[in-house]
Amino acid sequence: MNKLWASLFCAMLFTSLSAQTKCGHKLGGAEIEAQLQYIPGYFGCNYIERFDRVLQINAFIGLDSASNTVFDIPQLEAAIEQLNEDFEPCGLQFEVCKTTYIPNFQYNSFINIEHEDQVTVEYYEPNTINIYFFQSILRNGESVCGYAYFPGGKDQIFMEKGCSVPGDHSLSHEMGHFFGLHHTFETDFGEELVDGSNCETAGDLICDTPADPDPEGNANPDIGCQYTGPITLDANNDWYIPPVDNYMSYYPSDCTCRFTPQQYNRMLDQYHQLRNYLW
Ligand SMILES: [Zn+2]
Repeated sequence: MNKLWASLFCAMLFTSLSAQTKCGHKLGGAEIEAQLQYIPGYFGCNYIERFDRVLQINAFIGLDSASNTVFDIPQLEAAIEQLNEDFEPCGLQFEVCKTTYIPNFQYNSFINIEHEDQVTVEYYEPNTINIYFFQSILRNGESVCGYAYFPGGKDQIFMEKGCSVPGDHSLSHEMGHFFGLHHTFETDFGEELVDGSNCETAGDLICDTPADPDPEGNANPDIGCQYTGPITLDANNDWYIPPVDNYMSYYPSDCTCRFTPQQYNRMLDQYHQLRNYLW
């Protein structure tokens, strides 16, 4: 898939479709407030501080002009099953407590600037994770697989239906943002060094995800997901060994297969500190 995700939190995938799959994200005001108050407790933990909890999802599915869904209950269940598989190591699990169809077909070609407020004022359940599935999503002018809000932001995730299928970890990527994970290639906090010396304060703020120089996600699944990006050395002239296997990167979804222990722990931390009102 070749779709460029742009936006706050997005998912990624480069399987075999033909759109761009990236998401640029910027934290909103409330999210920055929340993140500034967040006290990380996950450094130095190589094990996952598992916490078993089932969180409730309210699913909203856009209908097309013929009132077809394209993405119905079996597809939804398959998407949640993939999500649960990806989150099982940390104990967080998700179940759909209610599914609602959105008949206004204009929303099915979702444009965040025009539609987000209109949709969410009508379709929203407080204190649950609200996930909206639409045929296409345009976020700030860019076609994306999805986007979400960080802790401190809204309890909402917007997903393209075609990116919410088994084998595609875009929904897990968005859920990662929803629980406070940054992209592995994040530079808002400074560029992470290969030797890990600034891993707590730069990059994705996670130490067991190697420094990642590549927001384009250049890796080749045909040759063992070898990194093929143009940037090979960091500021110390150390060779990058990017985390091509990580859900929070933009590497092809054929290559991504995991979160790291510290990513799980950061998500659990942020769940406990910033999103513990979810039921
Ligand atoms: Zn993202």
